[in-house]
Amino acid sequence: MKIEDAVRRQYLTAMGVQIWERRSGATAVPAPGEPRASDSNGGDGSILAFLQRPAAAPIKQQANVPIAIQTLDWQTLEQAVAGCTKCSLHAHRTQTVFGVGNKTAQWLFVGEAPGVEEDRQGEPFVGRAGQLLNAMLFAIGLKRQEIYIANVLKCRPPNNRDPQGVEVECCEPYLLRQIELIAPKIIIAMGRFAAHSLMKTDMALSKLRRKPLAYHGIPLIVTYHPAYLLRNPIDKRKAWEDLCLAKSIMEA
Ligand code: URA
Repeated sequence: MKIEDAVRRQYLTAMGVQIWERRSGATAVPAPGEPRASDSNGGDGSILAFLQRPAAAPIKQQANVPIAIQTLDWQTLEQAVAGCTKCSLHAHRTQTVFGVGNKTAQWLFVGEAPGVEEDRQGEPFVGRAGQLLNAMLFAIGLKRQEIYIANVLKCRPPNNRDPQGVEVECCEPYLLRQIELIAPKIIIAMGRFAAHSLMKTDMALSKLRRKPLAYHGIPLIVTYHPAYLLRNPIDKRKAWEDLCLAKSIMEA
């Protein structure tokens, strides 16, 4: 077994994912949760239809996006975020947390808001939740440097409280512009805040998972937030299924 496979195996075990061995000569059987070629999200053909959708249309800016942000490039966008005082969160931050990774990434992962460690280091997902995210990425064969990671909020809410509506509203144009500039092939919304803010819904996360959603024509998969998975390791298996679904969409 290659070293990389052995490490991946260790990560999967840590994530609570059972590893099935293929018997020599046996026909390939996907592990539980791994999408099958014949699977169609509950048997209604919707994933298949999703995979056959026409190419993503350009993102149409929403009416509430100030024109200035729509026209910014990476450098000016990052400067605008760094100097932002649109909501009260700016008063508490050590620094803004813009986003990190490959600016032409195919995969975009969106989280909620920086925590204490992210606020200190200026980079998303560098605390315990970030370590789990790294393990999840590794398990599906992705490296942190080849994806892009951003949050809905660019400033840390005090005491890690939930983001408020007005804060999401103020910060949203920055994320929207990041998505436009990256033009990812898939978006993974981690947790209910990312899912609600991108999909403009307040549906329960359990209802949004395993659904072929799209954000302005870009396939979007909703999964659990890594911080939630640290508290509820039993659901790591479902998060693995979500990532397998995303991977099958990317490979289609
Ligand atoms: N949780 C998030 O949603 N984002 C981070 O950057 C860190 C923790």
